[in-house]
Order: sequence, then C-alpha cells, then structure tokens
Amino acid sequence: MSHALDALFRPASVAIIGASSDPTRIGGRPVAFSKRAFRGAIVPINPKGGEIQGLPAYASIAAATTFPGVAAAIDHIADVQVRNRGTIGGSIAHADPGADFPAIALAFEGSAVLRGPGGERVVPLDGFFEGPFQTAIRPDEILVAVRRGPVPDGANFAYMKLPQPASGYAIVGVAAVIGTSNGTISHAAIGVTGLHEHPFRAEDVEKALIGSDGSDAAIEAAAAHVDDDVEPSSDIHADGERSVLRTA
Ligand SMILES: Cc1cc2nc3c(=O)[nH]c(=O)nc-3n(C[C@H](O)[C@H](O)[C@H](O)COP(=O)(O)OP(=O)(O)OC[C@H]3O[C@@H](n4cnc5c(N)ncnc54)[C@H](O)[C@@H]3O)c2cc1C
Repeated sequence: MSHALDALFRPASVAIIGASSDPTRIGGRPVAFSKRAFRGAIVPINPKGGEIQGLPAYASIAAATTFPGVAAAIDHIADVQVRNRGTIGGSIAHADPGADFPAIALAFEGSAVLRGPGGERVVPLDGFFEGPFQTAIRPDEILVAVRRGPVPDGANFAYMKLPQPASGYAIVGVAAVIGTSNGTISHAAIGVTGLHEHPFRAEDVEKALIGSDGSDAAIEAAAAHVDDDVEPSSDIHADGERSVLRTA
C-alpha cells in the first residue's frame, strides 16, 4: 500500500507491479485485438462522476477511459484474451476475493446499479461485497451499470498489485485515488483486494491520510491501519499476518 500511495507523489502517477504487459503481444508475437465493438458507454452523470453502462469488456474500458492511470491498471488484469472477453460487470458480480477491478472501482467510490422486477436500486460498492463470491445482488436482479463517484479536480490514481504469477490475479492489490490541497491530502479513497474475504475500502487508512502531508512517514503510519476492520485471509501464499505486511 505504501508503494501505491508513494507513487502518487511522483510525476508519473501510474504504478503497477507485475510483468510488463503489452496488450498487443503475447510471447513477443503480435496478436489481433478483438474486433468487438465497444458495447457500453461511459456517460457523465454529474460534473465529476460517471456511469459505465452496458458493462463492457476490460479492453473497451481501457480504450475509452481518459482518467490517467486507469487504462494502464486494466492492462495488467489477466491477459489479452481475458481483457477482450471478460467484462467489468462480470468481475464485480463474481466478487472474487482477489479480483482487480473491484479494488479500482472502490477507489473511485463506485456504485452498482441493480435492476430487478421491482425496478432499479443503486448500491455503493462499499458494502456491496459481502463475502467470497457473495454480493448484495438479489437472486432476481442483474447488474446493469457501474457508477463512479465524484473525483476532485487534480486527483491522481494509482493501482499496485502483487500478481499471482500463473493467473495474474492479485495476491494483494491496492488502488488509490488521492487529492491534495495546499500541500496536504484532502481526498483519499482506497480499495484493497486479496487481503480479506472480499474487496473493501480501507477507511481507517483514508482517515489517517486525510490532513497529512503525504510524506513517507505519514503513508507508512496510515498503511498500518489497513487491517483495522477486516480479517486478513490465510491462503496458500501466506498466513493472514504476512498478508497484512505484504499489503502495507
Ligand atoms: C485465465 C484467466 C485469468 C484471469 N486473471 C484475472 C486477473 O488477473 N485479475 C482479475 O481480476 N480477474 C482475472 N480473471 C477473471 C476475469 O477477470 C473474470 O472472469 C471476468 O472479469 C468475468 O467477467 P465475465 O464477463 O466473463 O463474467 P462471467 O464469467 O460471465 O460471469 C461471472 C459471474 O458473474 C455473474 N454475472 C456476470 N455479469 C452479471 C451481471 N451483469 N449481473 C449479475 N451477475 C452477473 C455470472 O452469472 C457469473 O456468476 C481471470 C480469468 C481467467 C479465465
């Protein structure tokens, strides 16, 4: 986490750990991009928010987004075939504990637009993920759009992950949207994946960052709060305690 936050204060705000990924090449050989047209639309819903309708494939979002760093973050999800076919709606609805896109969407204070027989409801993603592969989607609902919350002018985004070497899933991944004002952090929204049984917002880290100067010491102190409200999962890669250290 401290690496992701630290990266926000460097000139290039894109920060990804992992194998470099040129989406047009596999094993050094060029591959054709999917010809699938952009099936969704990114629609502004207020001056600073937006709604991704139609829940397109990752590659479509990477092609359409203009927010610095987001396309590069998506380019490090899985491989070119998965990015061409897998959708962001599928990723959010599936709620894999190590999925990347939920952390990114949480950092943008996203919401899920759910539609069922009774109409539409909007559920903030902070609270939407309820457990491993469990969400707030009711059996008679589908996810029809994902909204992002307002992002302050000048805010930066970074996503860093420790990828599982075979699949690319995040063993841990941290996404951060950080805004500053007069030399102090005025906005912090942080999504974490891989550490807990579901992706989550690291609210205590956010609280510790807001008002700080964003120095290494401040980031380190804030990152120590990452497991305040969650139960770090033990898995084949590490026990819970080591997972916390890796995330911080
Ligand atoms: C080889 C491989 C590597 C991968 N690596 C990564 C990785 O590095 N990082 C990562 O994050 N993910 C990774 N994935 C997972 C991939 O991102 C997801 O499989 C994909 O995003 C799911 O999207 P989909 O459209 O295929 O969904 P589907 O597989 O079609 O659906 C997934 C689940 O969500 C439900 N669902 C889908 N859409 C909706 C909807 N609109 N409303 C309600 N429910 C819905 C489906 O019923 C299903 O239960 C990998 C997958 C593969 C195969």
